[in-house]
Amino acid sequence: MGKPTGFKEFDREVVPYREPLERIEDYGEIFTDPPQSHLQTQGARCMDCGVPFCQSNSGCPIDNLIPEWNDLVYRGRWREALDRLHRTNNFPEFTGRACPAPCEGACVLGITDPAVTIKNIENAIVDRGFAEGWITPHPPRIRTGKKIAIVGSGPAGLAAAAQLNSVGHSVTVYERADRIGGLLMYGIPNMKLGKDVVQRRLDLLATEGVKFVINANVGGDVDPVELRETNDALLLATGATKPRDLPIPGRDLGGVHFAMEFLTKNTKSLLDKQRGDDFITAADKDVIVIGGGDTGCDCIGTSVRHGCNSLVNFELLPQPPAKRAKDNPWPQWPQIYRTDYGHVEVKKKFGQDPREYCILSKEFLDDGDGNVAGVRTMEVEWEKDDAGRWQMSEVAGSEREWEAQLVLLAMGFLGPEQVVAEMLGVDCDERSNYRATHGRFATNLPGVFAAGDCRRGQSLVVWAINEGRGAARAVDHFLMGRSSLPAPG
Ligand SMILES: Cc1cc2nc3c(=O)[nH]c(=O)nc-3n(C[C@H](O)[C@H](O)[C@H](O)COP(=O)(O)OP(=O)(O)OC[C@H]3O[C@@H](n4cnc5c(N)ncnc54)[C@H](O)[C@@H]3O)c2cc1C
Ligand code: SF4
Repeated sequence: MGKPTGFKEFDREVVPYREPLERIEDYGEIFTDPPQSHLQTQGARCMDCGVPFCQSNSGCPIDNLIPEWNDLVYRGRWREALDRLHRTNNFPEFTGRACPAPCEGACVLGITDPAVTIKNIENAIVDRGFAEGWITPHPPRIRTGKKIAIVGSGPAGLAAAAQLNSVGHSVTVYERADRIGGLLMYGIPNMKLGKDVVQRRLDLLATEGVKFVINANVGGDVDPVELRETNDALLLATGATKPRDLPIPGRDLGGVHFAMEFLTKNTKSLLDKQRGDDFITAADKDVIVIGGGDTGCDCIGTSVRHGCNSLVNFELLPQPPAKRAKDNPWPQWPQIYRTDYGHVEVKKKFGQDPREYCILSKEFLDDGDGNVAGVRTMEVEWEKDDAGRWQMSEVAGSEREWEAQLVLLAMGFLGPEQVVAEMLGVDCDERSNYRATHGRFATNLPGVFAAGDCRRGQSLVVWAINEGRGAARAVDHFLMGRSSLPAPG
């Protein structure tokens, strides 16, 4: 522990984002580069509390060695901090930018004071590592002769590929999109995760020997049964790609889209430097985003950058409390009111936060030409029934019509598409995820494993990395009878 009194001397200071009205003029990352002295000071706030909940199961899902690298950063030993970080995290530049940081919710300092800015420090370590040229390819010295096919190139598939390649297996990742990266590439928008940052890591993996095949739709033009037969192991990492729909009257009107249609086409147009015919624009439109979370916020941030006319975001649930509720104690993830980058941008541009709580959408309104003209809604109330379950009821007389020419549905995802599971004969659970136990990651078929959102349901990048690393160990053990690969808890 570098500075025993650091947490008493220094306040928490989060690295600021770029000015909202400046950053909405482009798709560059929203982050600023803090001076290193700032991070050293923030690292000094770590108390080295003895039982670091931040790196345990209630905190970081990949067991990042947080107090160790906080201390090394405080002492200016950045290269050692980078080595510690890479021990547990294949892709700290993704989590350092996009992770909601459950570690900070579990920080022991957070019981009495604002938590250490762990995520900022993580990001600064890896960015410095790239800037200094410390991060270089490390191909394995020997090859085992074992072949592994991974379906899906999101963070779960990539983390597994990195780990399995590192111990000498020959890994090929099959991806149906025209670019590798899963939701890191086509999902999380450029302003939250630059695509040059994603590509930089993909190039390293390719140099280390991981093979990537794009435009490979497994279950379509690539037969999963053949993949299984021609490889020693098969890992499914296909993500949770089935969006939750809103089947109310008017759903078929033009201008009502799933969030991912909107976001994917936007990112593709930026990367291709041209808009496809199917590009969905929010320019000069009144936009309604239905649903919150990361996806809703990313639709908001993207619409603002398109130059939308107005923006409203419907949430079915009530506004969360400002502080932890009694039934949500430390070190659990705090279920509190948060303001994300897109909300700030709308408030700056239009004068008010876009979120409207307790709103139930009842009907999409027709403009007379088959396009959406608005949404009819009711307000709802939430109350607990005798069994303690939340029940929703509509508020009489609260009907309202909202104008909109573009409506984006961001209401979450319902597991993986079923075609690969059906063709292979993989069992699915009651939520339609591939059935495999966390820690073992084995499906009902010998040699077939599953990891990431397709197994656990819609989640986070850091959990996908946890699953990819864990599945790699399970696959390695299956192939070799033992494994030296680490597995996070
Ligand atoms: C818009 C959005 C924003 C998000 N923002 C954040 C955030 O800020 N922070 C965070 O932690 N999490 C965020 N998430 C969640 C996070 O991105 C996911 O939890 C994570 O990417 C899951 O990783 P995965 O590898 O399991 O699957 P994915 O990243 O979904 O990757 C699965 C890949 O498999 C491919 N695939 C599917 N079926 C086939 C097939 N049959 N053949 C070949 N390829 C196939 C898909 O094309 C996809 O590329 C966000 C999610 C969305 C949708
Ligand atoms: S990966 Fe996420 S939870 Fe883990 S240390 Fe980084 S920000 Fe925290």
